[in-house]
Amino acid sequence: MAWFKKVRRPMTAPTEPSRVPEGLWVKCPTCAQILYNKDLTANLSVCPTCAHHFRLDAVARLRSLLDDGVWKEHDASLVSNDPLGFVDRKPYAERLREGMAATGLRDAVITATGAIEDLEVEIVAMEYGFIGGSMGVVVGEKITRAAERSTAQRRPLVIICCSGGARMMEGTLSLMQMSKISMALARLDRARVPYVAVLTDPTTGGVTASFAMLADISIAEPGALIGFAGPRVIEQTIRQTLPAGFQRSEFLLEHGMVDMIVDRRELKPMIARTLRFMGAAPPAAPSDTIPLPAARDAVRAPEPTLDERSPQDT
Ligand SMILES: [Zn+2]
Repeated sequence: MAWFKKVRRPMTAPTEPSRVPEGLWVKCPTCAQILYNKDLTANLSVCPTCAHHFRLDAVARLRSLLDDGVWKEHDASLVSNDPLGFVDRKPYAERLREGMAATGLRDAVITATGAIEDLEVEIVAMEYGFIGGSMGVVVGEKITRAAERSTAQRRPLVIICCSGGARMMEGTLSLMQMSKISMALARLDRARVPYVAVLTDPTTGGVTASFAMLADISIAEPGALIGFAGPRVIEQTIRQTLPAGFQRSEFLLEHGMVDMIVDRRELKPMIARTLRFMGAAPPAAPSDTIPLPAARDAVRAPEPTLDERSPQDT
């Protein structure tokens, strides 16, 4: 008789369900550490071991940046009417319904008024969970209105970009949003109201090609994918192998495309600092506030007349 005998059991799936609820633990894709989801959320979805930045949804983003986690939302009821009746693998209308069910939002962006370290701001947070954060007519209109509110109220604009680009299901109408938003931002710039963009993973396509790259100060999160076309398309076009780390925040900083890379846990104080640097001040206590500079046209020195010009000018 053998000392040890292996009891053979049929290979079937366990009948008892796992007592560990789904989504309680998350594995970090960078350092492979197993993280307790609650701890991760408390750390703003940044891995405590290697500082990998997980994607943050729009609501969590606003909560992390705005004072007391409160804001006043604008244009929440705007909804796409599927202008082209577009169908690919499934109807666009169905994708919209799924996006709404998954995120609780009507489209891929939240626009709101809130405060960052007592500085009143118009803030825009994009939601990747809604059709990849893509920019259709509703996203374009809401961001344009946010920029216009910013200009009218002279409140700085902060946009948290997180998008796969223009929404192909709305065809050229989605591309038109790029110029519409850019024009609103040009008016904001002329009114000398600060605009800060935060580029998170991913910021690509028509979003990069318009408002994401038009800010007074561009802040990127570490390791974020930021670019226009994907690397495969570029390689095929230029017939060259792309360098390592291409289209990541660190590469873009090195090449002067972004101003700084800021850890998400430092983001709020850094945004406040850049806004104060550009002249923003809390609305209360009027005696010791420094108002934003007046419109550029008003402060521009008058054109020299012919007599005042030095000889070198002519
Ligand atoms: Zn990690």
